[in-house]
Amino acid sequence: MVSLNKFRFECVHCGNCCCDQNTIVNTTYSDILRIKNGLSTTINEMLEILSFYIYDDTPSSKNLLKMVIHPIQTENGLAFIGLRKNNSGSCIFYNYEKRRCAIYTIRPCFCRTFPFYFYLENSIVNIGYTKKGLEYCQGISDNYKMIDKEYWTDLGKKVLDDLIQNDKFINHWNQEVNKQKIKPTAKGIISSIFKMGINDKNIIKSNE
Ligand code: SF4
Ligand code: SF4
Repeated sequence: MVSLNKFRFECVHCGNCCCDQNTIVNTTYSDILRIKNGLSTTINEMLEILSFYIYDDTPSSKNLLKMVIHPIQTENGLAFIGLRKNNSGSCIFYNYEKRRCAIYTIRPCFCRTFPFYFYLENSIVNIGYTKKGLEYCQGISDNYKMIDKEYWTDLGKKVLDDLIQNDKFINHWNQEVNKQKIKPTAKGIISSIFKMGINDKNIIKSNE
């Protein structure tokens, strides 16, 4: 097990994670619901906020096993859902002047957890720095304080649970599409998510 004591991090709002043109800001169904509730968005407005990043390959079962979030069937093929980016490749919610996130309290889990990732080992939540975090996060430094174990462990549990629930939604959607019970449209996906309730026990609250 990796000791959480070895992690020193403090977000210094450098914005590097928000402006990385090569990273998709993944959104789970609960992220989408949180943003919907926070901004009172309609389905069409949500379609303007999100992008469906088409996954060109046919994923092998080996690749699927490695994916933290699986692609979902859309009218244009399998896709990952993420926040839209502007022309420079930054997240549309990044405010350059203020160097801040415009939806900070309702931002996706992906943003909340950066520069860390979580995994379970013997049912214990473990943490590690992501490759991108080590590459450019200005908040990782021996000069900063050690992370709050309780906070990050609790967040890790919720995020891992959220990913499981999200995967269930994606698998169910893809199965229904394969059975030709539903048409795989981006609008249909958002509409289905809007109809879903949030599991209050595990949802990441705005202030976390
Ligand atoms: S939602 Fe906010 S924190 Fe997340 S990438 Fe966009 S600007 Fe950054
Ligand atoms: S890269 Fe690190 S320090 Fe910079 S905004 Fe993202 S989390 Fe904060």
